[in-house]
Amino acid sequence: MKQADIMKTLEDNGIQASYQRMKIFEYLVKNRTHPTVEDIYRYLSSRIPTLSKTTIYNTLKVFVDKKIISQVTVEEKEVRYDFSEGAHLHFKCKKCGELYDIFHKCSLLDEKEIDGHSVDEHHLYLKGLCKNCRKN
Ligand SMILES: [Zn+2]
Ligand SMILES: [Zn+2]
Repeated sequence: MKQADIMKTLEDNGIQASYQRMKIFEYLVKNRTHPTVEDIYRYLSSRIPTLSKTTIYNTLKVFVDKKIISQVTVEEKEVRYDFSEGAHLHFKCKKCGELYDIFHKCSLLDEKEIDGHSVDEHHLYLKGLCKNCRKN
């Protein structure tokens, strides 16, 4: 995604594209590793010294509210952020802690209504031993 597209995505969603917001969004687009606020801060604070953790936190909240990113909470105390096109599942490795995107077909992800309830969010995750850890 180019700078112009980053700005457009934010503006199309009614978000004022400040420099800091653009950098935070760009980080999420480039790092599909489901970073935490801490991860984003560690990387960006050396490049933008005026950036605070609170700004990152508040910016992410705006992005989540506008649904351009989603929040992944596999562990209660660990909130991660996800920019990813398309509905998907998450697989968390119990050994290395890595969180993988799984774009496996799952009919639940397409459901807009289940047993008369209307669904507007899907948070599905699996846990186990990842392919890298299985090799060792
Ligand atoms: Zn693993
Ligand atoms: Zn994901």
